[in-house]
Amino acid sequence: MRIMTQNLGFPRIGRDRELKKAVEAYWKDPRGRSGLLATASSIRQRNWRLQKAAGIDLIPSNDFSFYDQMLDHICLLGCAPSRYTENGRRVANLDEYFAMARGSGDLHALEMTKWLDTNYHYLVPELEADQDFQLASTKPFDEFREALGLGILTKPVLPGPLSFLRLAKCGGKAFDKLSLLPKLLPVYRLILRELRQLGAEWVQFDEPILAMDMEPEERAALLSAYRDLTGAAPGLSLMVCAYFGPYGENLATLLELPVKALHIDTFRAGDDCDALLQGLSPDTMLSLGVVDGRNVWKNDFSKSLKRIAKAREKIGADRLILSPSCSLLHVPISLAQEKPTPLELLPWLSFAEEKLSELGVLARLAQAGNWLSSPEFRANQEAVHDRRDHPAANLAGVRGRVMRLHPEQETRKSPYADRKSGQSARLGLPLYPTTTIGSFPQTEAVRRARANWKKGGATDAEYRSFLEAETLQAIRRQEELGLDVLVHGEFERNDMVEFFGEKLAGFAFTSGGWVQSYGTRCVKPPIIYGDVHRTGPMTLDWAAFAMKATDRPMKGMLTGPVTILKWSFVRDDQPLSETADQIALAIRDEVADLEAAGIPIIQIDEPALREALPLRKSDWKACLDWEVRAFKLASSGVKDETQIHTHMCYCDFGEIMEYIARMDADVISLEASRSRMELLGTFSHFAYPNGIGPGVWDIHSPRIPGPEEMAELLLRARGVLGAENLWINPDCGLKTRGWEEVLPALRNMVEAARSLREKTQAT
Ligand code: GLN
Ligand code: ZN
Repeated sequence: MRIMTQNLGFPRIGRDRELKKAVEAYWKDPRGRSGLLATASSIRQRNWRLQKAAGIDLIPSNDFSFYDQMLDHICLLGCAPSRYTENGRRVANLDEYFAMARGSGDLHALEMTKWLDTNYHYLVPELEADQDFQLASTKPFDEFREALGLGILTKPVLPGPLSFLRLAKCGGKAFDKLSLLPKLLPVYRLILRELRQLGAEWVQFDEPILAMDMEPEERAALLSAYRDLTGAAPGLSLMVCAYFGPYGENLATLLELPVKALHIDTFRAGDDCDALLQGLSPDTMLSLGVVDGRNVWKNDFSKSLKRIAKAREKIGADRLILSPSCSLLHVPISLAQEKPTPLELLPWLSFAEEKLSELGVLARLAQAGNWLSSPEFRANQEAVHDRRDHPAANLAGVRGRVMRLHPEQETRKSPYADRKSGQSARLGLPLYPTTTIGSFPQTEAVRRARANWKKGGATDAEYRSFLEAETLQAIRRQEELGLDVLVHGEFERNDMVEFFGEKLAGFAFTSGGWVQSYGTRCVKPPIIYGDVHRTGPMTLDWAAFAMKATDRPMKGMLTGPVTILKWSFVRDDQPLSETADQIALAIRDEVADLEAAGIPIIQIDEPALREALPLRKSDWKACLDWEVRAFKLASSGVKDETQIHTHMCYCDFGEIMEYIARMDADVISLEASRSRMELLGTFSHFAYPNGIGPGVWDIHSPRIPGPEEMAELLLRARGVLGAENLWINPDCGLKTRGWEEVLPALRNMVEAARSLREKTQAT
């Protein structure tokens, strides 16, 4: 018997981000509709043909989306919040669809949140206690038929019912979402029947809930749901896929599911692979995720073939399907036109298209058996060893420094209470100091100047003097506004991670390695391939320039080690904590340089601290422990009089407050205004010990809050946090706003601070 191969999902943005361009053109001008439909269809068809040519047996369909697969599923199940739709809860056209994704007029968009532990964001379904479901779209059927028209029999992909409910939120009052299952399943049954009638042989259900903490009731519901679905369409084989973590106590339930195939992510399943092979019932097939869908590295054939051989021995070739570990949505599409910097990286890389070829080769080699002498195997191992043994990834100096780390390097010299007075004396700040988060508007002019300089249209000196003028203008404006702690504005930075990655050794950049972040937003994450270290100061020149341009305290701005790590593709040959330590030491050196130059305040941003935590709460501690350590390593080399700030945004801080406090920054700024200071609830049970600035202006909205509104938020914050520790700042950096919004909003903020100070004196 031949070993089968499959794919779980392919990136849908198109090789040149055609989908982004077509969707955005449609948003600007609805006459772009036919162009958009044509682009979408050509992307789908190209993807199917490509997978066919790669010899993939089970090729997914319904993995395409104009915006997001969960949004599509909301439309399919007819459960759109009724505020968006004219026709009950059915989404009638593209405009209603995009309105849910982006908001429209007074309608705010569906909430967006990170997909499991990835950097992809999905739109969160909003369900009501009396929610109904109905089959309300034909998308999976249309796509199945479209592929069939090309002679390709696909395997439609659907979010499974339990994960769909789990990843949804309650629209109104909280209720037990499981209570909706009896109404949901009939719609799933209809979908399966229709797909079977069209000729489908397989359907893939994504149930990532199986790698999360599950309640016993959820496990029971999962089992009964699949018992129900499995009989819905005779002749149709169901497959259940989970990824990104071990099954743990859900394994027994998984093994009981009456479906034709189960999928395992061998990179993140811990020891569950053996247990799964052991417990798999004799008529169930196993999809073995042997090609990592979360990184950009070439597969190590030696490891994979061993895994495959072990599985084959246990269950036989005819029950084995080789697969990527998860959907390939999370990696760039193709190396075909790729020119990474440095170029020598190219032979080590594998993007979505290459990963599919790897599957084909793995199946062939596993089938044939004696792979050791095959040229493909040898070439693969050469590349794998070349990467592993490369001098840039084995720098004795960097490794030695990490090995010699000492706990003293992770703690400030004195406790916060003792540092505070020295800092106050040095800085001479008023009560309730005002500041901003770092960036000022990246105007069209700023972006144009950078692009022009990059393509050689301006000399370094010309670009430099442009940036100096922007920086000076930002400083003058901050002085005029009366802000207490100034920033230089970050005009020289493109992106807060890319900027540092470009300066640090050990980082590489792709020329076209785009990955969908959400909707039409794509990112090009840096690749950490070597030992990370600093080759010289990275931010010192601008910080020093800005400091000299004003009498007021100037903050130096850095991105923290955890954020740099989490927004990059990482090496898979050492623990994340080790890479984090390397980056932390590089930032620590930068901090030391800034301090030596006389910068009195240094902010180290960690917006990603809370992101991408493991799916199970019990694994959080281990992860947060090294994250906090990395931050402290980066930040605690300074004198007591140097004030360390940090910033975090757009996450639920409540659950990790204890760790945030352990970071021991002198001041933290947090996003808080969007939820009207809901965050304060956390601090009524947890007394945050250091300085803290809960944001008073939601910078993601064009709305400018007035001084009274901000003062009211601040009064509430003061009630919980106390007057002594309270700072005043916006929610996040201002780079996406225009000056015409920034100036009045900050004026109002300074005004709010003034009135709060007056009120404090009066009492
Ligand atoms: N200092 C960064 C800025 O102001 C912080 C951005 C962020 O939190 N994502 O843009
Ligand atoms: Zn932020």
